[in-house]
Amino acid sequence: MHLIMLGAPGVGKGTQAKKLSESYQIPRISTGDILREAMQTGIALGLKARSYMDSGQLVPDDVVIGIVEERLHGEDCATGWILDGFPRTQQQARELDKILEKLKMSIGYVLNLEVEGEEIIKRLSGRRSCEKCQSAYHIFFNLPKKDGVCDSCGGRLVQRSDDREGTVRERLRVYKEKTEPLVNYYLERGILKKINADGDIEQVFKRISSHMQ
Ligand code: AMP
Repeated sequence: MHLIMLGAPGVGKGTQAKKLSESYQIPRISTGDILREAMQTGIALGLKARSYMDSGQLVPDDVVIGIVEERLHGEDCATGWILDGFPRTQQQARELDKILEKLKMSIGYVLNLEVEGEEIIKRLSGRRSCEKCQSAYHIFFNLPKKDGVCDSCGGRLVQRSDDREGTVRERLRVYKEKTEPLVNYYLERGILKKINADGDIEQVFKRISSHMQ
């Protein structure tokens, strides 16, 4: 199973990708998580990515394409994978096609998660994540058992610096300009599934699962 999660920032791609990853026992490859981890450990990749991420811009194509190419060669990707947050530009999509051709793999479905614009701002501004293990929470939709503390590892819950309102608006603008055109790119190939991402996590997961038969 080879899946791509598409959709605006805050639409719930990461949450649904994690559930799919557990349910189908295939790795979730999140370029955002890989870049944030690099930022935390202070390696060169993280230092390079920080200024782009903090201002809501995309990290340069060659950087993220390199990350994904290396990751897809991992042994655990042999039986399937879910790409979460990649591709985000036409160039990334074209390069992904070339990488997959070399690996003799093909994309099964592209799941395009859709919600209203204002709902997205609400979802993003309420998002919190564990600074240690990156587990995701939400102050309205997915509360931890103890306020501000991660259920899985006891780490502190923090707001991502790029989830603050000014940066969120810029991320949405960049999404419209650079990433939304990919909807047509995959629609024309007949592999895009439109998913109504309104509602709670389980409702959306059920809708996604109904497309997986
Ligand atoms: P995400 O966690 O997917 O929302 O990504 C957070 C940030 O990481 C984005 O706003 C970008 O700055 C950067 N990023 C993640 N994936 C990509 C990508 N495929 N291309 C460029 N930048 C990316």
